[in-house]
Amino acid sequence: MSFMRIIAAVAALLLWCAPSLHAQEVPAPTATAGTIPGLTELASLPVEVDVAEGSLRLVNLYRVQARILLDEAGQPEERVVARLVEEVFTPYPEFWAGYLGDEAAFRRWAPALLDPDHPIHDRLPVLLALDLDRQFEDAVEWMESTTGRRPAGRWYILFGPGWTNMGGLGDGRMLADFSNMPPDSAQIAGLLPHELTHQVHKVAEVDDPDGGTVLYRILAEGLACYAAWVHAAGQRTPAWAVSFNERQWDWALEHEEALWEAAQSILASRDRADTDLVSHRGRQLIPGSPGAAGYFLGFRMVQAYVATHGPDSWHEILEMPVAQVLARSGYTGR
Ligand SMILES: [Zn+2]
Repeated sequence: MSFMRIIAAVAALLLWCAPSLHAQEVPAPTATAGTIPGLTELASLPVEVDVAEGSLRLVNLYRVQARILLDEAGQPEERVVARLVEEVFTPYPEFWAGYLGDEAAFRRWAPALLDPDHPIHDRLPVLLALDLDRQFEDAVEWMESTTGRRPAGRWYILFGPGWTNMGGLGDGRMLADFSNMPPDSAQIAGLLPHELTHQVHKVAEVDDPDGGTVLYRILAEGLACYAAWVHAAGQRTPAWAVSFNERQWDWALEHEEALWEAAQSILASRDRADTDLVSHRGRQLIPGSPGAAGYFLGFRMVQAYVATHGPDSWHEILEMPVAQVLARSGYTGR
């Protein structure tokens, strides 16, 4: 399989992705001497941590990666890769199958981590110094106290091939790949409510006759962006929530009716090309449109729903069939 085909296959597995624009807006923190824990301290950090009384499990693979890279500094590549296979791949083959591939694929990719230019070397000390477990606890607590729903599933946190920053692999499995995102505390705090919304909303998709359609995707992303915007409590704009800059947001508002009209003919589609048309940052729904215009349309749909049904009514959307949400929102793109 060619590299591009591997990327395409992985992209097809990623059911949703976090907005990625913020990654360019926040400069990557640099490592400061003395922040990296010693091997003894690292060894005592648990790899798997339960959050929210066990409904969410964090699999902190970056801690294993850190331990190996520190432990094996200066050792031959073959030896380091063997340990990575044994301790990072072998205990979690089903996760790797959903993201990177089988053991052979892992062995081909793993030496990339040893490249001195790989971001792992600058970002690991910063990530290890963050209290990431606490950030997850806080985000889950916010989600539960705000919506009454508790996210469930597993999060794999690691330095991987960097094909997404945060995203879902299905079956409640999520990942955060710090090869593709700086370990910035404020950025993580901003992104988690978006992803946790997907985790609580995903449950509704199973019973929704429109599950998996373009309309579902538009609403799911819009709802996740809306939740992130509510969480930001006035500190962020709607444009930030959908990963647009202000100019793109203004353009989308000016062309909202045309955007919504362009989406009409594909709302019921489950074709990958059609969902990409509304959710991929590199695709334009109409000429001149910012990428991922579906995030904007979904956000506007939720705004319309809330304008009619009250500020907290977005919580009920989490369990409502999307066709009903659209009808009750009265959204027409105008
Ligand atoms: Zn999303």
